[in-house]
Amino acid sequence: MAIASSFGTIRGVLFDIDDTLVDLEYAMTTALRDVSEHLLPGLDQAGWVKFGRIFTHETTHFYDRYLAGELTFNEQRLLRGRAALGHFGVELAEGEAAQAWVMEYHQRQTAYVRPFDDVQDVLDELDAAGIPYGAVSNNVHDYQRAKLDGAGLSRIKILVGTDTVGVPKPDPAIYLEGVRLLGTNPGETLYVGDNRLLDAEGGTAAGLVGVWLNRTGEVVDEFKGRQVDSLSRLLVRASTAA
Ligand SMILES: [Mg+2]
Repeated sequence: MAIASSFGTIRGVLFDIDDTLVDLEYAMTTALRDVSEHLLPGLDQAGWVKFGRIFTHETTHFYDRYLAGELTFNEQRLLRGRAALGHFGVELAEGEAAQAWVMEYHQRQTAYVRPFDDVQDVLDELDAAGIPYGAVSNNVHDYQRAKLDGAGLSRIKILVGTDTVGVPKPDPAIYLEGVRLLGTNPGETLYVGDNRLLDAEGGTAAGLVGVWLNRTGEVVDEFKGRQVDSLSRLLVRASTAA
């Protein structure tokens, strides 16, 4: 089976998960505010935006250390929380208070995870066309499996995590394991994700058709690769195909 995409005829699609299929940033920032509001009474909206940005975007070096095996998942979470709180002069007490903060955050974030509005439609189109699809993610398999299922995306059966082949993106092996599970060829398989470097450039370097899902329309002059601003623009619908 083959289908027309905006980037040529393809036979399979692999997706990144976080901030591609599911709105993790919403889940993170909403949960973060829930569990931190009592620590930052009176913080204004601009303050909460800054607080969320520190946690989600400005402390990803702690996530890199988790990927390198230097921190546990919860340790990197706590360090990111401490950095965000610390920016506003709040120190989270060691021990039970910190553990409770992480646990409460985890439960709330899990509950807030939801798919983007454009996800089910593109999966419906792929199913209708008989095109296999799956997910390749820079987190461990079981955690991401639960995340997809919790978000109502159990229809995504193929899932490759960092522990599946023992390497994270942008190591080619992790994208190629996804391709192997789809049963396609790399050059006929889209790899779509919100991270320009890990998803678009990393997927392309591994031999797939890497596509940057640039939902916010960020302008990056040096980026010469493929991009879409919505998953709804990934496929060429039969009625509009040339
Ligand atoms: Mg992502």
